[in-house]
Formats: sequence, C-alpha cells, structure tokens
Amino acid sequence: MPEVACTVSNCKYWSQDNQCTAKQIIVQNDAQGGGISPNASLQSLAATPAYSSDETCCQTFKNAHQ
Ligand code: SF4
Repeated sequence: MPEVACTVSNCKYWSQDNQCTAKQIIVQNDAQGGGISPNASLQSLAATPAYSSDETCCQTFKNAHQ
C-alpha cells in the first residue's frame, strides 16, 4: 500500500507526522460517500467519479474519541 499522508488528526488511524496507519482506505466522492459497511466487498462498490479533489473523501475515517 502506498504511504497515505493525512492531516485528520482525530482519526483512529492517524499517527504522528501525518501518517495514516490503516491497512486500506476507501475513498468515494462526496455525493456517494458514507454508509459503507466495514465488511463491504471492495469489488462491489460502484464507481463514484469526482471532478476535483474537493469532491473526494475518506470513508475509513473513525473518530478516535467516540
Ligand atoms: S483512515 Fe482516512 S481519515 Fe483516517 S488517517 Fe487514514 S486517510 Fe486520514
């Protein structure tokens, strides 16, 4: 997996120096983002095109304080 740099410091998977420690992350566009089961088959996810980076979001985020 490539290194993922992330600044969302309250995520359970965030680590010092802005490193993501998740084994994998799921990124969708903002319009379709959310509601993915942790056990979802990645191959079954529909394509969710975006037109700029502002329209994408990490679905693997988990609030470290909840
Ligand atoms: S899971 Fe997503 S939000 Fe959390 S640290 Fe990794 S890239 Fe950032």
